[in-house]
Amino acid sequence: MERVSFEPEPIGGLQVLGMLESRLLRFDRVIFIDAVEDNLPGHSPYEPLLPDGMRYILGLPDLETRDVVAAYNFYRLIQGAKDVYFLYQNGSQSGGLGKKNVRSRYLEQLIWEEEKKKKNLLAVHAMPENTLGEKGSIYTINFPLEPPFLQKQAVNRTPLLQEKLEECIEKGLSATQLDTYLTCPKKFFHRYLLGIKPLKDLDVQEDRANFGNLLHAVLEDFFEQYKNKEIQLSSLNSEELYAYFTEKFFQEKSFAELPLDIRYSLLELMKVRFSEFLNDERLLEIAHLEKELQHIFPCGAKKIKLTGKVDRVDLQGENKERVLIDYKTGTIKMPKKAVWDDDILFDKLLAVQTGEEQVNDELLQELQGKIISIQLILYMYLYWQETAEKVHNGVLVSFKEYDVEDKAFFADKVEDEEKETIILALFPKVLEYILSHMLEATSFPAFASADNCQWCDYKNIC
Ligand code: SF4
Repeated sequence: MERVSFEPEPIGGLQVLGMLESRLLRFDRVIFIDAVEDNLPGHSPYEPLLPDGMRYILGLPDLETRDVVAAYNFYRLIQGAKDVYFLYQNGSQSGGLGKKNVRSRYLEQLIWEEEKKKKNLLAVHAMPENTLGEKGSIYTINFPLEPPFLQKQAVNRTPLLQEKLEECIEKGLSATQLDTYLTCPKKFFHRYLLGIKPLKDLDVQEDRANFGNLLHAVLEDFFEQYKNKEIQLSSLNSEELYAYFTEKFFQEKSFAELPLDIRYSLLELMKVRFSEFLNDERLLEIAHLEKELQHIFPCGAKKIKLTGKVDRVDLQGENKERVLIDYKTGTIKMPKKAVWDDDILFDKLLAVQTGEEQVNDELLQELQGKIISIQLILYMYLYWQETAEKVHNGVLVSFKEYDVEDKAFFADKVEDEEKETIILALFPKVLEYILSHMLEATSFPAFASADNCQWCDYKNIC
């Protein structure tokens, strides 16, 4: 944030003041912008000609005095106001687990006081519409940046690209590859046909991927001892899990060298998250860990190998119902519930399958908006096909934040028969369309949108 000079208008409604200028003034509503440690209280520069020790001897205010005065000005200003808002930029500057903006110590203190009062950690919520939210709450506000020019060119299918695609399909397609295609076929082209890997120096990607790998490995090792035994997660020791995680965490150089505050908050997050995660009293038996899945899917005249790896398969409850569990360290994505009742959509898919219509980009884009991610349902489908064992549900468990509820694919009220129809009858139609589009469309279209392109690894070359 840049400092600009601003002439206050004393009789106008809005005054923009620095902290020092606000001395002896009182306002009903105060808004702190950029309430980060760098600004509130800010750092006093080191003065080599008049260092702090010398200031003290000369009776001039030293750093400590200036800190005390800044704290006094801050607390006096907020004590006199009816409403106080703090805005700060959250998130990384150079990487998701790298250098971050640090919330002001004053704000931390206010949050801590509020948490003590509520006897709970303050959760962060999305900003409600048309209100300024509740007192003592933290909200996120997003300002997605729209690239000024979102028209990206499609890539025409050439014999060489077709050859590359066949090679790729020959090895087997994973859920990640299919999800990439569904999100943006041009992204799939960059990643899997041209083979351009995301840039290594993008810390945000690399750190997140490493963190995900570490977490998966730790959970696999931890649960190995309980495999094929009847357990309740709540009877397992979350401190043991946390200790094991910490040990592995410090063995990874990239994590051990993270700045202290980031390391500390990550470890604290995991400590709380592990104890929430194991706070589950359902009876279960872990049947598989990191189970590899594979199935040959018929698509027109072709047979396509589909692969996946599910993190955990539980036999839950008295009836030992199979539930597939997938751990997530990134954003959780799931199909919209209403998609399976969308007869118009399934009629359109049928029209393509019967040859009445050609594959087209609009229908793929419609699927993208409604299906969002096929990963979990693909795992349920592959598992059912491979083992002939009925799948009761799939659950995504997030380790990204505190206090996040697990997301089950099916709500409790969904009957077994309906689940079977969705997994074994409706989902294959979606899958077939995605694969047909991949094999037959005349080009790899670019599904440019602010959501898709903002974090895309290929936005600079697209
Ligand atoms: S920048 Fe946008 S259009 Fe281009 S590949 Fe990425 S997601 Fe697709």
